[in-house]
Amino acid sequence: MMTGLDELRFDNSYTRLPEVFYERVKPTPFPNPHVVSVNSAAADLLDLDPKEFTHPEFAEYFCGAKLLPGSDPIAMLYAGHQFGHYVPQLGDGRAILLGEVRNQKGERWELQLKGAGLTRFSRDGDGRAVMRSTIREYLCGEAMHGLGIPTTRSLCIVAGEEIVWRESPEPGAMLLRMAPTHVRFGSFEVFYYRRQHEYLKMLADYVIEYHYPHLAESENPYAGLLHEVAVRTGQLVAHWQAVGWAHGVLNTDNMSILGITLDYGPFGFMERYDPTFICNHSDHRGRYSFQNQPDIGYWNIRALARALSPFVGEADVNAAPEVYEKAMLGKYAELMSSKLGLLETHAGDDKLVTDLLNLMDSSRADYTNIFRALGSVRQENPTAPSELRDHFLHREAFDDWTVRYRERLQAEKSNDAERSMKMNSVNPKYVLRNHLAQQAITQAVQKKDYSEIDHLLYLLSHPFTEQPGMEAYAAPPPPGEPAIIVSCSS
Ligand code: AMP
Ligand code: MG
Repeated sequence: MMTGLDELRFDNSYTRLPEVFYERVKPTPFPNPHVVSVNSAAADLLDLDPKEFTHPEFAEYFCGAKLLPGSDPIAMLYAGHQFGHYVPQLGDGRAILLGEVRNQKGERWELQLKGAGLTRFSRDGDGRAVMRSTIREYLCGEAMHGLGIPTTRSLCIVAGEEIVWRESPEPGAMLLRMAPTHVRFGSFEVFYYRRQHEYLKMLADYVIEYHYPHLAESENPYAGLLHEVAVRTGQLVAHWQAVGWAHGVLNTDNMSILGITLDYGPFGFMERYDPTFICNHSDHRGRYSFQNQPDIGYWNIRALARALSPFVGEADVNAAPEVYEKAMLGKYAELMSSKLGLLETHAGDDKLVTDLLNLMDSSRADYTNIFRALGSVRQENPTAPSELRDHFLHREAFDDWTVRYRERLQAEKSNDAERSMKMNSVNPKYVLRNHLAQQAITQAVQKKDYSEIDHLLYLLSHPFTEQPGMEAYAAPPPPGEPAIIVSCSS
């Protein structure tokens, strides 16, 4: 059964917590709002009738001009470690939680409007988001979902007559994003460092009740929570490393308690393979470089463990980072093995992976396209097809690697046709390359032409399916094109 906008079933469970957890605040709308893009896959999660997308009220509801019946909007309090330093109060400075909708399957989806105006937590900010960053987050959330990576989802973008000042004036927009909860590591840290352990416990109980209910009966549910978050975070980071993606701002306030990708800012898919890849222009020291992400996950789990330490025994607090690391390494090995099309685990598989990565590193080969092309290796041929081989500067070294790869495939009696089909379902054809996002942004900002956003949304929602005539979307940017600079100012 499809639901109308005014029939969504709100619950607003977070508002049942004491008021120190949030501020009740209404969004500040834009004048003359219009819909930029709607994602029907996310609307489906709310059982929302697609007829509603063209309803005149749709833009008003999702730019805060009208409140959805039953919604009780709040901005959530949190703190966090930013670039290694504790900041005692952050909170939703520009995102407003409209509330939580329960769908017919009984799932809870929080509706959060990003760029919705000032809150008590805005500090020096203006409460707004620029169209540019909104389009990037909207598309990347769905791209990650398409890739099978846990993430917040994107429902829609609404724009209006609103100019936002960054380095220069830019059109503003609002993004409606969805997650079962937006609670972060920093939501716990704030009460730990304020020594408000009663609130800390309430938050842990809340998260367990709604999001980890199976832990409620365990001997120490808080230790169970820490353990599960460590595992999920480890698996999440493994996914990022395997797909070649960097978050850019892995502060503890951007770490989800559900282990989903949260708060897309200056993120980047690696194009030329480079482990030192830094996607965030403001990250001068490369704290959040691609290769540092696994260590940062470890650091962040330690911060969460410390925040939960009043209720978790010392042994479990100390074990959490190792739990994380084990989950991360295990998942990474599994994902890389499937990227190579291997069905079994053999000694030396990790070396096969690192040797390939090292070859890619010295050739600065395109990470996504190399893995996609690897499916074309045939066991009867002594060398890889030239469209793959030619990506490498040291072709003989790559030929040597190919020999080992063929031997490894033969060792498990791999079937080439089946293998390449399987590999094409784990090695994407399309990822959100910066220049692709930029094309959609330029058209939207300069011409109010939003068609490229919808086109990319479709392509990235099906990243493994080759679409006829779309070869350009799988290619790196043309040589000589200046790099697109992305930073925190969004
Ligand atoms: P981020 O780096 O985007 O995760 O944001 C860090 C903190 O700054 C969060 O508390 C945000 O809510 C806040 N913030 C970022 N941009 C703005 C803005 N334009 N206005 C108000 N608060 C902001
Ligand atoms: Mg954030």
